[in-house]
Amino acid sequence: MDNPPQWSLLGALTCYQPWASAIVLGLKDVENRGWPFPHDTPACVAVHASLEVADDTSVRELWPAQAHPRPAREAQLAWPRGSFLGTVVITGSHPAVDCRAPYCSPWANPHFGHHWTLTDPQQLPLPLPATGRLRIWQPDPLHRAVLETVCLKGQD
Ligand SMILES: [Zn+2]
Repeated sequence: MDNPPQWSLLGALTCYQPWASAIVLGLKDVENRGWPFPHDTPACVAVHASLEVADDTSVRELWPAQAHPRPAREAQLAWPRGSFLGTVVITGSHPAVDCRAPYCSPWANPHFGHHWTLTDPQQLPLPLPATGRLRIWQPDPLHRAVLETVCLKGQD
């Protein structure tokens, strides 16, 4: 019998662009949310890009210029939206008020909610169109099967 996987796909998380792309590209290693991650960690989740785009101010403040050229507005049109982009493993979650300078990541917002720490991003070869939802949500079975494979690939 094959070794059981360490973890399987927990569900999906919808993010604005450019954060969704920055996560699956391995640039963004913290997700700032208003709520603590509500499951045991580590947990593999599918990264889904919403139809909406983050406002310019937060993009300017949080996109580390040293890691990647700041995304131009024109480039936003090329960011896949309304699609699954890949998976990432959530390793933990802590309140921003418990995070001290220099903070857990350049991507962490020290004034907001909770920092979900991320590792092992996996990108799908092509975006997989789907409608996003709030909180941690369950992809339909067909999408789930594809995303589960991507998630397991990161555990080789
Ligand atoms: Zn932090």
